[in-house]
Amino acid sequence: MRILIVEDEKRLAEALVRLVREESYQADMATDGEEGLYLALTIPYDAIVLDRMLPGINGLDIVKQLRQKSITTPVLMLTARDSIADRVEGLNAGADDYLIKPFAIEELVARIHALARRPSDFVADNTLQFGDLRFDLARRIVQTPECPDGETLSPKEAEILIMLIRHAGQVMTRRQLMDTVWGYEADVLEGVLDTYVHHLRRRLASVRGPSIQTVRGVGYSLQK
Ligand code: CA
Repeated sequence: MRILIVEDEKRLAEALVRLVREESYQADMATDGEEGLYLALTIPYDAIVLDRMLPGINGLDIVKQLRQKSITTPVLMLTARDSIADRVEGLNAGADDYLIKPFAIEELVARIHALARRPSDFVADNTLQFGDLRFDLARRIVQTPECPDGETLSPKEAEILIMLIRHAGQVMTRRQLMDTVWGYEADVLEGVLDTYVHHLRRRLASVRGPSIQTVRGVGYSLQK
């Protein structure tokens, strides 16, 4: 499980990240709207904790933009206001739940658990499709009509493939892939990414699936 925290009060944001990590989730943090939106668009999170009032782009606009781009990651909105109109506005914008500041930590943890369990549309039937390729997210198996037995991917190979499928037709930069698979602040050598892509290519080839194109100096893209 991987959670994004977008909160401009840095001390609160850091406390939330610690808390989420204590629950054995991975957590990334953004302290302004632009960074928050960038991460939310780039990385397939299981849930996003999103402050409503943010510098740059506010929380309402972030959730609207995510929903417009068909990103259905559950969003828990943090709001300092407590009027029915504000709550309705947040939920209408596409948030799944909201919490009014100040809140009890236990309450926040309970809400995150509930949201992260809620299946998003993205994994509605637990499969992703790309051309003839079917990818079973729960079992991490790729298969095609030609090779119905399929191949099982490692967790990291699976994360790379999810990103490439979600951004099909675009080039995923090396940075985006590394941030997704190893964490936003992780320090991983680029050669490690190439090794995983190499393994993933072999598995896709063995089920006669799509190929991963190298875009020199930029990154990778999935080709039918
Ligand atoms: Ca704020």
